[in-house]
Amino acid sequence: MWVIANWKMNGNRALCEQLAEALRSRQDDLQSVRIAVCPPAVLLPQWQQVAGYDDIVLGAQDVNEHGSGAHTGEHSLQLLNETGVSLVLIGHSERRSYYGDSPRVAAKLATVLKQSAPAMTAVLCVGESAAERSAETTFVVIEAQLTEALSELPLATVEQWASRLIIAYEPVWAIGTGVTASPEQAQEVHQFIRSWLTAKLQATGTKIPLLYGGSVNAENASALFAEADIDGGLIGGASLDPQAFVDICSAAT
Ligand code: 13P
Repeated sequence: MWVIANWKMNGNRALCEQLAEALRSRQDDLQSVRIAVCPPAVLLPQWQQVAGYDDIVLGAQDVNEHGSGAHTGEHSLQLLNETGVSLVLIGHSERRSYYGDSPRVAAKLATVLKQSAPAMTAVLCVGESAAERSAETTFVVIEAQLTEALSELPLATVEQWASRLIIAYEPVWAIGTGVTASPEQAQEVHQFIRSWLTAKLQATGTKIPLLYGGSVNAENASALFAEADIDGGLIGGASLDPQAFVDICSAAT
């Protein structure tokens, strides 16, 4: 199971220390869980300083699709790698809706997964809005997002890139709202994603971890993680509370 913290534009240097300390104090119990933390980019060096040990994967919230150049304010894969990052989120719904990222998702994903040095893990985020769910177009929307996102990755080399791909299902209506998808609602979409991946990538598609994100907390995590096709969680608000985040990690053991 994976549990990934996405701090979004929150947190500070002190929280890096507090969360690192909370995770370290439970290190032995949490050995079976793959834990990643994605702080804001400017806090990456601080994370590396306080938690630069192997067990916690350092992640970034976004990546630029270009290698270098005149892209003010952006971060390349190489720059992120320099700060110890080995996992990046791609296509988070907030980046899609506030920063127009949807058309760049395929290029970003291909940038990360086509190169093996640095070998980075990509967490592709997909999810439907409340209006799309009401209109019963959830599966259509998810399928379109997956098709578009994988469109620049060659099927012929699937073995090389799919082992570094994670998919996070984050229904937009559940993000930061306190309204979590029920375990059944989440499982239904995860099962759809799993079938889609298996149809497209054959056996390789069965191995891609599928995470749920959207108002996961210490109380609802166990029931969500118990579902057959839910392989962990992508945690926003609750990852800013060290005790809550450690409890969510513990629910994944
Ligand atoms: P919340 O856990 O705050 O709902 O955020 C989920 C999310 O967007 C994680 O990427």
